[in-house]
Amino acid sequence: MNPASEPSAPRRIALFGGSFDPVHHGHLILARDALEQLQLDLVLFIPAAHSPHKPDTNPAPGHLRAEMIAAAIEGEQGFALCPLELSREGPSYSIDTAHALRALHPDAELFFLLGEDNLPLLHTWRRIDELRAAVRFVVYGRGTTSHAHDFPRLQRRLDLSATEIRQRVARGASIRYLIPDAVQNLIHRHHLYRSTHH
Ligand code: ATP
Repeated sequence: MNPASEPSAPRRIALFGGSFDPVHHGHLILARDALEQLQLDLVLFIPAAHSPHKPDTNPAPGHLRAEMIAAAIEGEQGFALCPLELSREGPSYSIDTAHALRALHPDAELFFLLGEDNLPLLHTWRRIDELRAAVRFVVYGRGTTSHAHDFPRLQRRLDLSATEIRQRVARGASIRYLIPDAVQNLIHRHHLYRSTHH
């Protein structure tokens, strides 16, 4: 049965894409803000297989980044892991993901969450005009750029990044409280981020 024809089909869905290398409390806090402030039914965490915006990075394996997300959001109603981009070949273009989710949820309103650090290069995204027509962008302020825009904003300053987490692990500093314990355990178990070549 088409999931969207079921009575409980989500009506307001946000796409939250990124490397999630690893997922951290910033992502989780911002996703909860979106859930509440946009009255969403669902936030989909969508780890990119190969981000077209970070061509020079070598992220942790996709299945481990997905496992860390799954551990981080376990038990949180309204959050789900979406493996669409990990299971697709080639670079992870948001327009392809938006079309795939539109097909799965024909009647839903689709939002697209992104940090303002993405805005300066947004015009270079593949088929950006089509993407803007397919989803409603909502921008997280990050204090990193003063790029002007007309998108609705979700404002909360969280000075936290996956880069910092990776760097701290590489130099043996604590990452406690920056990420969920379950994610920290996975990082240690799989020996992730021991070197800075990510
Ligand atoms: P990295 O440091 O590896 O570049 P990141 O912490 O920015 O990673 P991503 O996986 O790129 O994490 O983030 C997914 C999305 O969440 C992006 O749109 C990013 O801009 C946004 N984001 C991540 N952390 C924050 C934050 N602290 N404040 C606002 N937006 C954030």
